[in-house]
Amino acid sequence: MHSPVPVDRALRTQETEVIDLRRRLAKVHRILTAGGIWPLTKGHASARIPGTDRVLILGHIHSQGRSLIDTDVDDIVTVDIEGKWLEGRIEPVDERFLHLEIMKARPDVTSIVHAHSTYATAFGIAGVNILPVGNRGGIFAPQVPILDFDRQIDTPERGRMARDAIGDGCALVLKNHGTVACGDSIENACITAFALEETAQLHWIAAQLGPVQKISSGEVRSVLTGARKEEFFSHVWGHYSRMDPWDRSSSNGSS
Ligand SMILES: [Zn+2]
Repeated sequence: MHSPVPVDRALRTQETEVIDLRRRLAKVHRILTAGGIWPLTKGHASARIPGTDRVLILGHIHSQGRSLIDTDVDDIVTVDIEGKWLEGRIEPVDERFLHLEIMKARPDVTSIVHAHSTYATAFGIAGVNILPVGNRGGIFAPQVPILDFDRQIDTPERGRMARDAIGDGCALVLKNHGTVACGDSIENACITAFALEETAQLHWIAAQLGPVQKISSGEVRSVLTGARKEEFFSHVWGHYSRMDPWDRSSSNGSS
């Protein structure tokens, strides 16, 4: 006769955590699409499962002709840190090595967004580094590096090139291709992707008017540390979160 299997609370907690991560990651895909960071809805985001060598990442739904505006939890799959597909209904995106090689080298990075946003990508095409300008640019000091390689980052070797290029920064431009934004949470990586595009746009507009001046090093230091850093991210998440077309709260108060 079998006695009931005792519930492994730790396992259950992790399962709940993974469900929550999937939900948040799918949401970020919808937000980045709605916010115009993913022209033609091409791009992907990832999140490390805490305490493991497993990573959640988008399945290759682009090949099905679907829009990322409809990304759901079923579209997120699990890979190990070497890129092996562990679970999920769709094969993971080929460019997963871009995410994984950076995460391997950077314990502080738990989430990455890869995008092809127009202004930031244009800087890579022109070979001009995006500078920390405006009040959202401080996190990109001293400048956003450019990887001088214009093909897809779809092998571990290419992933290591991106890892070396980004160093300890939070963003990278891939020449003639797109961008990479890192964060210590899914939401912060999403906000960084938006901040990168906004900074690139501001830099470009300023360059039409005169010499581009970076923000002061004192301002950079305060943005990168303590309460200002927290403010940089958490104070704007409510704004981006409401871009999610599935966010029912966005219609609250309308009737
Ligand atoms: Zn790409």
